[in-house]
Amino acid sequence: MNDQGGLRELYQEVILDHNRRPRNFGALPAANHQAEGYNPLCGDQVTVLLDLVDGRIRDLAFQGSGCAISTASASLMTEALKGRTAEEARALFNDFHGLVTTGEGEGSEDLGKLAVFSGVREFPMRVKCATLAWHTLLAALDEKAREPVSTE
Ligand code: ZN
Repeated sequence: MNDQGGLRELYQEVILDHNRRPRNFGALPAANHQAEGYNPLCGDQVTVLLDLVDGRIRDLAFQGSGCAISTASASLMTEALKGRTAEEARALFNDFHGLVTTGEGEGSEDLGKLAVFSGVREFPMRVKCATLAWHTLLAALDEKAREPVSTE
């Protein structure tokens, strides 16, 4: 199959869909790890919340506001990481980072839907938008566990 144009449109469609209807967006009362990230180049800001149990991401969510790329990236990231171990999450970050910077890892099945961001590397300014949620995720993983946030 040689339908680069069609593939590009499909990718575009996935990004627009996740921007319009972000998955796992909002509060996560059981969260015991969290971090905030900011991309001053674009104004994107994101908070990543993790419910991390025995080294596994039992659940996660994100909050914040930003451009379509940053929101879609955060949304797709949360889908990709639910149920994964922290180690798997770090490995996937490396694959994703390779995809949007050097193109290394393109075609890797581990990336799944995250492959929609392969075009981002042609736009260096956008790389930070696409990786913001991931850098924030790493910060959240590294953070010392805290008591779940309570709003009561
Ligand atoms: Zn952005």
